[in-house]
Amino acid sequence: MTRQEQIRPQSDGSETSSGSSFLADDQLGKLARWLRILGFDTLYFREIEDRQLIRKAADDNRILLTRDTRIASHSGPANCIFVESDNWIDQLKQVIAQLKLKLTPDNLFSRCLLCNSALEPIPKADVKERVPPFVFQTQEEFVHCPSCDKIYWQGTHVSHVLDVLKPLL
Ligand SMILES: [Zn+2]
Repeated sequence: MTRQEQIRPQSDGSETSSGSSFLADDQLGKLARWLRILGFDTLYFREIEDRQLIRKAADDNRILLTRDTRIASHSGPANCIFVESDNWIDQLKQVIAQLKLKLTPDNLFSRCLLCNSALEPIPKADVKERVPPFVFQTQEEFVHCPSCDKIYWQGTHVSHVLDVLKPLL
């Protein structure tokens, strides 16, 4: 009884799930990218030792996503998800279902896909020399990454992504 009451505050409200942050192992690059597209704070390192991965997840209070049973057994079930499928869409579905993540359309494309930083608006005039002329002519709103300075805009890829995600949203 008391145990259940202790657990409840953690899974209470949308704050917790929308604030979930992740660390994906080196086999889960595509899943990491899609979690970023959905707006979740997701770290991913192409090369990282298992021990470092486990420590980083604990230090940052991130949920570790792994395809490696050894890693999953080392870090307790509380902060680790063993990802079952090889297929990224099934992986995404598993993480969303298991953590009951709330997907908010407003959060889509709010993070840099390359480095995970939160994107910030940038004035159109500032991107003139840095995007293709057609894009500059046809788009009004731009955002950029404060860390790696990549510029993003609502291109045709957005509707493609929304089509892919529609069953999940
Ligand atoms: Zn970036």
